[in-house]
Amino acid sequence: MSMRYSEQLIEEVTQRNDIIEIISEYVNLKNAGKNYKGLCPFHNEKTPSFVVSKDKQLYHCFGCGEAGDVIRFIMKIENLDFIDALELLAEKCNIDLSEYKNNSYSSEKINKRNQLYEVNREAALYFYRNLIRTKNEGINYLLNRGLSIDIIKKFGLGYAINDWEKLNKYLLGKGYKQETIHEAGLVISKNGRRYYDRFRNRVIFPIISTTKKIVGFGGRVLDDSLPKYLNSPESAIFNKGRTLYGLNLARNELGKEKRLIVVEGYTDVITLYQYGIKNAVATLGTSLTKNHAELFKRYCQEVIIAYDSDSAGEAATIRGMDILDEVGCKVRIIRLSDKMDPDEYIRSFGADTFKAQINKAQPLIDYKLDKIKSENDLNTNEGRINFLNESIKIIKSLKSPVKTDIYVEKLSKDARVAPNVIKSEIYGNNRDKKNQYKYNKNNRVFGFKTNKKHEKNFEPVIKLEKNGSIEIEKNIISLCLSTKTNYKKISSKINDKDFLNNNTKNIFCIISDIYANNEKIDFMSLVDRLDIEDTKLLKELEQRVVPFENLDKTINDLLISLKHFKIKNEIELTKEEIMKLEKIKYKDERNVMKIKELWKKLDLLGKELKNIGKNQIDLKGGKSYE
Ligand SMILES: [Zn+2]
Repeated sequence: MSMRYSEQLIEEVTQRNDIIEIISEYVNLKNAGKNYKGLCPFHNEKTPSFVVSKDKQLYHCFGCGEAGDVIRFIMKIENLDFIDALELLAEKCNIDLSEYKNNSYSSEKINKRNQLYEVNREAALYFYRNLIRTKNEGINYLLNRGLSIDIIKKFGLGYAINDWEKLNKYLLGKGYKQETIHEAGLVISKNGRRYYDRFRNRVIFPIISTTKKIVGFGGRVLDDSLPKYLNSPESAIFNKGRTLYGLNLARNELGKEKRLIVVEGYTDVITLYQYGIKNAVATLGTSLTKNHAELFKRYCQEVIIAYDSDSAGEAATIRGMDILDEVGCKVRIIRLSDKMDPDEYIRSFGADTFKAQINKAQPLIDYKLDKIKSENDLNTNEGRINFLNESIKIIKSLKSPVKTDIYVEKLSKDARVAPNVIKSEIYGNNRDKKNQYKYNKNNRVFGFKTNKKHEKNFEPVIKLEKNGSIEIEKNIISLCLSTKTNYKKISSKINDKDFLNNNTKNIFCIISDIYANNEKIDFMSLVDRLDIEDTKLLKELEQRVVPFENLDKTINDLLISLKHFKIKNEIELTKEEIMKLEKIKYKDERNVMKIKELWKKLDLLGKELKNIGKNQIDLKGGKSYE
């Protein structure tokens, strides 16, 4: 992340874009107490744990931990880097960035990126004019494939003339530096001296970012020569693993299913678009990466894979589909007949047939099971065993018991083996894990963990000193959260003033309120009442396990430790006060008296500190140190 724009601009952009308004464009937010709440766009969830604060202009998700301000949100959700997110937000609130670009605010890096965008734009116009204004093979090729002029314009297609240096000369003539043209990947250099055009005699597909900037180009040959597709190399503005061809248009066409179709070729995207299927995208000659998967997750709920049958079966493709599945996208696969790609298929059979294919696309698991089935000869014992073993591996990975049961049933029929046999294979090795889960569940009260069976007792005061009072206070809060009985025991001995840290103090106050009103404690009801900073701590506390054998002893130890820190803190403050007074050159009587008093107090505090641990101290009933 580069912070080259001035702090002043960043502040202005942050102030003028209300985080609630911006996030509401992506997430359905509801006002809940102090904060707004909704389903997290960054992970899969059914109950909202994504919290946005209007006061603080921050967001935080308890499910996945994602948190930040409005710029961070746009970076994540639009998959942009800092500069692009800033520019997008600036545009939204009509801040003119050109004044920042052309004076001292601008930086080399921003200039470089803008130069790359500009040279790409100029090149795209050049390719486009070649295609439209001159007689050429490119336009014939596209028209022969059934593309209309309108659609050619819509996607900004172009043509690279069969010449070694026309484009380079043109761009140099327009005043672009050779270095910039080279960095954009429009030319290839030979020994750093001669430069020649990368794209020659190819149809050109500009690759456009979701912020509508041209980040690179794809070029396709007009005949059978290789490589069929040639892409711009990666640059400061072009990352293939994070870019999807056509997403700039498809993102607005997801429909109520929130669905994207992944195809292999640029022409597939374009032909589908022309036939009214406008939600297709293509990867840029790479298989699906984790970054792609995150991109999909942000835009859609379901991904339909529409590759030709050869590539769909490849291991890399299956891995890609697994990655999509892992991030929580629903994945289904279209199987097109006769080894056709979507482009050919829709031109042969029409849009309705293709839509029918989308509707009956296979879920990933069925697709995988079918694939295993087709690879094994079920008439031989060896084939059946292999089929069973491979299939069981896949069914085992299912999280839903209902789903598991359905597929066990299916597999049992296909392999002609009793369902119980398959089930014992599936659950056999999992028994330990299952018991573990039960054990933990039983120890959870109101969703907060305690661990009675933990072997160690609570750590002694001295050891904890390193971590400071905050650790003690966190443990106290965790116990308060776990049961009302614990809370009562604790609150009979301390009140909120005994906490040294504000975060824990705030949470303690709210817990007290909730118990006082006889309400049930649950995580989200607490979140609704807390400031967003304190909610982060709450999440940590929810997951904290306080180990203890003897609850009363643990509580007592914690309270003693808390008192220990409170006194130490008091001693420090008193010392500071004394030092301040000692520095006054001409002390009046009042100062002298005050210093004497403070020394006395310091003495008492010291004794008190020594006594800690010797007796069990009742904080509330004991001496006041205020
Ligand atoms: Zn989340």
